[in-house]
Amino acid sequence: MTDYPHLLRPLDLGHTTLKNRVLMGSMHTNLEEVGDWNRIAEFYAERARGEVGLMVTGGIAPNREGAVFPGAAGLFSDEDIAHHRMVTDRVHEAGGRIAMQILHAGRYAYGKDCVAPSQVKSPISPFVPHELDEAGIEKQIADFATTAARAREAGYDGVEIMGSEGYFINQFLVTHVNKRTDRWGGSYENRMRLPVEILRRVRAAVGDDFIVIYRLSMIDLVPDGSTHEEVVQLAKAVEAAGADIINTGIGWHEARVPTIATSVPRAGFAWVTKRLMGEVSVPLITSNRINTPEVAEKVLAEGCADMVSMARPFLADAHFVKKAMEGRADQIAPCIACNQACLDHTFQMKVSSCLVNPRACFETELVIAPAEVKKTVAVVGAGPAGLSAAITAAERGHDVTLFDKDSVIGGQLNMARVIPGKEEFDGLVEWYQRMLEVHGVTVRLGQAGTAEALAGFDEVVIATGVLPRDPGIPGQNGPNVVGYADVLRGSATVGRRVAIVGAGGIGFDVAEFLVHEGESPTGNLALWRREWGVGHPSETRGGLAEPQPTAPARQVTLLQRKQEKPGKRLGKTTGWIHRASLKMKGVEMIAGVNYEGIDAQGLHVSFGEARERPTLIEADTIVLCAGQVSERSLASELAERGIPAHVIGGADVAAELDARRAIDQGTRLAAVL
Ligand code: FAD
Ligand code: NAP
Ligand code: SF4
Repeated sequence: MTDYPHLLRPLDLGHTTLKNRVLMGSMHTNLEEVGDWNRIAEFYAERARGEVGLMVTGGIAPNREGAVFPGAAGLFSDEDIAHHRMVTDRVHEAGGRIAMQILHAGRYAYGKDCVAPSQVKSPISPFVPHELDEAGIEKQIADFATTAARAREAGYDGVEIMGSEGYFINQFLVTHVNKRTDRWGGSYENRMRLPVEILRRVRAAVGDDFIVIYRLSMIDLVPDGSTHEEVVQLAKAVEAAGADIINTGIGWHEARVPTIATSVPRAGFAWVTKRLMGEVSVPLITSNRINTPEVAEKVLAEGCADMVSMARPFLADAHFVKKAMEGRADQIAPCIACNQACLDHTFQMKVSSCLVNPRACFETELVIAPAEVKKTVAVVGAGPAGLSAAITAAERGHDVTLFDKDSVIGGQLNMARVIPGKEEFDGLVEWYQRMLEVHGVTVRLGQAGTAEALAGFDEVVIATGVLPRDPGIPGQNGPNVVGYADVLRGSATVGRRVAIVGAGGIGFDVAEFLVHEGESPTGNLALWRREWGVGHPSETRGGLAEPQPTAPARQVTLLQRKQEKPGKRLGKTTGWIHRASLKMKGVEMIAGVNYEGIDAQGLHVSFGEARERPTLIEADTIVLCAGQVSERSLASELAERGIPAHVIGGADVAAELDARRAIDQGTRLAAVL
């Protein structure tokens, strides 16, 4: 008997049967561009061994003009086919199934040769696309069909035609991008001719016994987006044209509504797919912010879809499905939807990985093998650096003792988890707790690591984290000044008017914490949809409604000394969400200040090198978020006594520290101890 009967049930597609209802959704990892095909094959094979029902590759371009950027992966030559064959063979040997996504970026392609239905530049690209003529459109369709046939030749079990997220096919469907007056534009019948033709020609090219998935944008979240009626019409047409599964796409890349970030409620768009259930007879896949077997099971049990797509959760844990099957769901490393090591890396042209699992995409390089010599290992500090080091060392067979002076594990993650919109950190700390038990780590809480306590261990790891930086502002010792840790740990009272010193990641988070009162929108889908203006595509085109944010709990001013736009250094794919969220709550952001002093009235600042324009920021409370410095007192003491120790995480380097770096460093150290 399983806890996940709907999720683990096979799915009969007629010509083939999938072993369960879990799809690993397409992710562009940049691995293909690195060109180490053994590494790519191992990435997918590891997930096949983890029992996922079907995987979809990252987007493969049908031709050069459709490539996301010049040089992006394609399937153009016999050599390309041979490379892809390595992947499909390895996946099949591991008992898995894999489909290749065909992605034509249209006007999102980062190159001067990009093509689109009309010459309408995208707000997220510097290039004006070339408008395709009739012959040009015919070429694009033919290239989709040829690429699908090549995918079959390369051993894939199917293809996914990417028709959503604002890419090429999606661009034909919507009038703000498709201005054509020929048979490819104008009426909806004409605008949907492209996807229907592509499906028809792809099906003809690959035969009947090959999986063809169509990813359909069910809520565009852009002006003039499709209505629900158009979505239904398209779904019926692509089914008739040969699709045997329809996958859900949510929001264009240029949409100003978050769709996969951590602050989006779990399964926050399953209702969109549910509205299409019963309209077509092929299975529907739902997607976005589904990251545990419980949530996935619930979505299926409630009839929202026939299958569930999860992408990033397979970076966090390749064995997600296997663990669910074996009753070990509490051991699944959770994807916290932070984007920090996956999407943010992709957009920086780096190979993707995962904050909680640094082995993701590095399977062949970062190997966790049993230790040749079993050692006693002391780890001091149960923040993410220490936790990952302790768990990895214990997994390798070492005898590990973990010390923390605090009464709980987690370090600063315990502050991150109280921020509205960052509730996923709860699951991460719980997972660490479980893995300490599974790997038999001896945990000594409420116990500071001291030179005496560490005597006799074969290896000592110092992961004591950071201390808040002292900004040295005159008057900062007054009763109206508090530190971020006091605020987030609940030991400070904060007034209605607040000035925050420092607009880094923590300053932004503290502002978010202070403007909210009561329930977090992330835990209440209706409230979240109201805040961001997510309506229903049957009532409002593209599902775009007027945002109705609730009133802020406090009047907050966020300050920094640098002249640049506050929040500029936040995550590449999430920074805009943090800025938009605080803007909705009326948070004032001021850059380029000098801190002159604090008194009972508030915070006095001036501007520029000449310290001009003296200004009072009236505030009941001033919160210091001025960065952090390494907590190295224990590391220094050990060094003085000549006791060797490894120093990791914030204790090693505080600048630009985040949990991603802390976990990566802890894991990599423990892999070689
Ligand atoms: P810490 O987490 O600081 O842990 C150090 C541990 O050592 C603590 O538990 C401490 O009690 C213990 N310790 C110290 N001295 C001793 C001693 N002598 N003996 C025993 N124990 C000791 N990062 C992200 O990547 N993404 C985010 O979204 C994010 N959000 C954040 C939000 C907030 C509000 C905060 C405060 C931080 C956030 N961070 C985020 C940063 C992230 O939490 C830190 O980078 C990370 O926790 C650093 O890990 P660490 O293990 O080096 O140190
Ligand atoms: P931070 O990002 O380095 O920001 C520190 C802030 O303090 C900056 O705004 C800085 O701006 C200001 N500052 C620096 N020195 C100062 C001084 N002497 N006096 C006054 N102000 C000063 O650090 P943080 O906000 O403390 O965050 C710590 C780490 O946690 C960061 O590395 C961050 O990446 C990570 N974190 C990440 C997230 C996330 O969502 N990914 C969230 C929270 C935290 P000026 O110098 O211009 O004044
Ligand atoms: Fe999920 Fe963050 Fe890992 Fe990406 S980096 S897979 S969002 S936990």
